[in-house]
Amino acid sequence: MDKLTSLKVSAAKSAILDREHILGDWKDSVDGTASTCKCACGVWVTVNTKPLPNDIEIGGSALAINCTIGDKDAAWAAAYEETI
Ligand SMILES: [Zn+2]
Repeated sequence: MDKLTSLKVSAAKSAILDREHILGDWKDSVDGTASTCKCACGVWVTVNTKPLPNDIEIGGSALAINCTIGDKDAAWAAAYEETI
Protein backbone atom coordinates (compact mmCIF):
# COMPACT_ATOMS: atom_id res chain seq x y z
CA MET A 1 0.00 0.00 0.00
CA ASP A 2 1.48 3.37 -1.01
CA LYS A 3 1.62 6.31 1.36
CA LEU A 4 -1.37 8.12 -0.15
CA THR A 5 -3.56 5.02 0.16
CA SER A 6 -2.31 4.41 3.69
CA LEU A 7 -3.24 7.96 4.68
CA LYS A 8 -6.67 7.58 3.07
CA VAL A 9 -7.33 4.43 5.09
CA SER A 10 -6.26 6.11 8.34
CA ALA A 11 -8.35 9.20 7.62
CA ALA A 12 -11.40 7.17 6.60
CA LYS A 13 -11.22 5.06 9.76
CA SER A 14 -11.20 8.19 11.91
CA ALA A 15 -14.05 9.83 9.99
CA ILE A 16 -16.21 6.70 9.99
CA LEU A 17 -15.44 5.12 13.36
CA ASP A 18 -15.13 8.31 15.41
CA ARG A 19 -17.66 10.51 13.58
CA GLU A 20 -19.93 8.06 11.70
CA HIS A 21 -19.57 9.79 8.32
CA ILE A 22 -20.73 8.28 5.01
CA LEU A 23 -17.67 8.91 2.88
CA GLY A 24 -17.83 9.09 -0.92
CA ASP A 25 -15.07 8.68 -3.47
CA TRP A 26 -11.62 10.18 -2.98
CA LYS A 27 -10.57 12.85 -5.46
CA ASP A 28 -6.80 12.78 -5.96
CA SER A 29 -4.80 15.90 -6.79
CA VAL A 30 -3.32 16.15 -10.28
CA ASP A 31 0.18 15.38 -9.00
CA GLY A 32 -1.03 12.45 -6.91
CA THR A 33 0.36 13.71 -3.60
CA ALA A 34 -2.95 14.64 -1.97
CA SER A 35 -6.60 13.63 -1.94
CA THR A 36 -9.94 14.83 -0.59
CA CYS A 37 -13.14 13.03 0.27
CA LYS A 38 -16.55 14.39 1.27
CA CYS A 39 -19.46 13.13 3.30
CA ALA A 40 -23.03 13.77 2.17
CA CYS A 41 -23.52 15.88 5.32
CA GLY A 42 -21.14 18.48 3.85
CA VAL A 43 -17.88 17.94 5.72
CA TRP A 44 -14.66 16.72 4.17
CA VAL A 45 -11.39 15.00 4.98
CA THR A 46 -8.09 15.56 3.21
CA VAL A 47 -4.75 13.79 3.16
CA ASN A 48 -1.41 15.10 1.93
CA THR A 49 1.74 12.98 1.52
CA LYS A 50 3.93 16.08 1.25
CA PRO A 51 2.55 18.65 3.70
CA LEU A 52 4.23 22.00 4.13
CA PRO A 53 6.08 22.47 7.45
CA ASN A 54 3.06 24.26 8.90
CA ASP A 55 0.56 21.77 7.48
CA ILE A 56 -0.54 18.24 8.42
CA GLU A 57 -0.87 14.89 6.64
CA ILE A 58 -4.49 14.26 7.67
CA GLY A 59 -7.08 16.94 8.34
CA GLY A 60 -10.56 18.21 7.67
CA SER A 61 -13.85 18.99 9.30
CA ALA A 62 -15.00 15.35 9.07
CA LEU A 63 -12.50 14.50 11.78
CA ALA A 64 -13.77 17.21 14.14
CA ILE A 65 -17.53 17.16 13.63
CA ASN A 66 -19.96 14.26 14.14
CA CYS A 67 -22.07 13.31 11.13
CA THR A 68 -25.60 14.71 11.07
CA ILE A 69 -26.99 12.02 8.75
CA GLY A 70 -24.75 8.95 9.05
CA ASP A 71 -24.37 6.17 11.56
CA LYS A 72 -21.60 4.12 9.97
CA ASP A 73 -19.86 1.44 11.97
CA ALA A 74 -16.80 -0.83 11.90
CA ALA A 75 -18.32 -3.21 9.36
CA TRP A 76 -19.04 -0.35 6.96
CA ALA A 77 -15.54 1.06 7.55
CA ALA A 78 -14.01 -2.30 6.64
CA ALA A 79 -16.11 -2.56 3.46
CA TYR A 80 -15.29 1.02 2.53
CA GLU A 81 -11.56 0.41 3.05
CA GLU A 82 -11.74 -2.25 0.33
CA THR A 83 -12.80 0.44 -2.17
CA ILE A 84 -9.97 2.87 -1.43
ZN1 LIG B 1 -21.17 13.09 7.57
